[in-house]
Amino acid sequence: MNKMILKFLSLSENEPFARNAVAAFALPMNPTLSQLSDVKTAVSEAVTNCIVHGYAGAEGWITVECETEGELLHIKISDSGKGIEDVERALTPFYTTLPGEERSGMGFTIMQTFMSAFSVESKAGVGTTVTMSKDFGAKAEADAR
Ligand code: ATP
Ligand code: MG
Repeated sequence: MNKMILKFLSLSENEPFARNAVAAFALPMNPTLSQLSDVKTAVSEAVTNCIVHGYAGAEGWITVECETEGELLHIKISDSGKGIEDVERALTPFYTTLPGEERSGMGFTIMQTFMSAFSVESKAGVGTTVTMSKDFGAKAEADAR
């Protein structure tokens, strides 16, 4: 078992920082390239959501917590931003509260598709936590490491 916690400000340059830090943390678990790419994409989507929706461009803390459990990587990404009024609606593909601003409403759908487990907890005015896991044991046979 291994653990790490990252805490950083909601600046756009910290999105690649977070995605690459999680990938570096996961490397000893010997993921395939495609599994690692899935994790990086999901982390990128979750952190971007904290920056553009949670804090809406304002400054605030984002926390990324990782924990390994055998071949499972658990990731928890939290902000203390504005929160989500209706989580079920927010999870609907193509639903976005920022239309016309390069947002397609697919972030949560991508996280759900690319990860082995996914859930969102949010409270309006308090913040949002996305919890997801990737099972590196579920390897496709043709997937090169
Ligand atoms: P895309 O991710 O395709 O650029 P999007 O961010 O709008 O577009 P999702 O990531 O699926 O799409 O998020 C759906 C909606 O959920 C967002 O439009 C926003 O209203 C809400 N949301 C998501 N994450 C947060 C968050 N951390 N804080 C507050 N609201 C959020
Ligand atoms: Mg998004």
